[in-house]
Amino acid sequence: MSDRVNTNVFTKEMKETHTLLFPNMLTTHFMILRNILQSYGFKIEVLQNDGPQVVEEGLRYVHNDTCYPALLTIGQMIDALKSGKYDVEHVALLMSQTGGGCRASNYAYLLRKALRDAGLGHVPVVTINLSTLENNPGFRLTIPMLRRMLAALAYGDMLMLLSNQVRPYEVHPGQTDALVRSWVERTSGWFDANTGFSLKQVGKHYREMVHEFGSIEQKDVPKVKVGIVGEIYAKYSPLANNGLEKFLAGEGCEVMVPGIMQFLLYAIDMPMEDTHLYGGSKFSQQATHVMFSYLTRFETELISAVQEDGTFTAPSSYAHLKEMVTSFIGNGCKMGEGWLLTAEMIELTESGYGNIVCAQPFGCLPNHIVGKGMMSAIRKAYPQANIVAIDYDPGATKVNQENRIKLMLSIARENLEKEK
Ligand code: SF4
Repeated sequence: MSDRVNTNVFTKEMKETHTLLFPNMLTTHFMILRNILQSYGFKIEVLQNDGPQVVEEGLRYVHNDTCYPALLTIGQMIDALKSGKYDVEHVALLMSQTGGGCRASNYAYLLRKALRDAGLGHVPVVTINLSTLENNPGFRLTIPMLRRMLAALAYGDMLMLLSNQVRPYEVHPGQTDALVRSWVERTSGWFDANTGFSLKQVGKHYREMVHEFGSIEQKDVPKVKVGIVGEIYAKYSPLANNGLEKFLAGEGCEVMVPGIMQFLLYAIDMPMEDTHLYGGSKFSQQATHVMFSYLTRFETELISAVQEDGTFTAPSSYAHLKEMVTSFIGNGCKMGEGWLLTAEMIELTESGYGNIVCAQPFGCLPNHIVGKGMMSAIRKAYPQANIVAIDYDPGATKVNQENRIKLMLSIARENLEKEK
């Protein structure tokens, strides 16, 4: 067998004939993204297959010292292709990559190599990368498409923030999730009608969202508040973190999960930070700055909408996170989630979510440094911080992970009793 891996492109013709399969990560955000891509004529499916066979396929085709997120997403895609559910001559795989200096830049190669080894090397892989986009004539991100996709992420963040703060207290179970579904349909409908994605419109709809979620009838009961941080895939994906949010809900907790917009701002800001620290092209810095300013305005709208109403806890701005973390870690520390992960733990602690689960995938050195490695410094500055690092890897059992979280929750409950 040749060592070469195929880099089959997704052609214009394939847009008509092929279904794009996309691994799930942020359920609500991805539902809106899927609807946008469908409205542009793509056949697309967000993968939901899970179970031990996903890990087994990952272990079979990815070296076992590779990052767990790579192993899982590749395992999920190969499992889907082998399931018999899809015509493998008419599917392509869509994969987002964060890029950067750690192994996040190698996922596409790892996937192509796994496909070759599984006898599926002809399946095209389309990557969406923050740094570069590979040439795929059938999948081009246009400005209008990109604007809709960014607005989708902005809406998804607000829906995640509000639903997490309402769901644990709702009097009529299911009402919050029904409202989330209704907003997913509404936003997708607007995008179809060429509206709903400008900053002004997003700001207006943010305020409607806050009002509607605030109108859901809720019980006034104290709950343990838990923040979730960690490597991006382990933090958000129920497949990676063994349904962490659902588990915490079952334990009677309210969860706070930082939004994806902060991560995007971080990913765009860090090349600018490089230029600031080490020098470089001012032209590319200016181009990046335009994008950074655009996303910052979404963030400003979200925070204003939540703060004006006063019912819900608003996140801090990216600028504030970047500033407040500097007494703990330098802004040049930017492998993986970098200083942002440390900043999120500090911000959650300051905003009342000091019980924290830090989701750490196997093989992820950067996030062990900025996550687990920073806990002692955070506890020293914030004695109320009650943080537990949970490792996610093919050999870790769900029971063991949940027992460790339960230990953290028992301290959290004691603290809640004392507060009462
Ligand atoms: S952030 Fe961690 S898990 Fe993700 S690619 Fe980098 S090293 Fe791997």
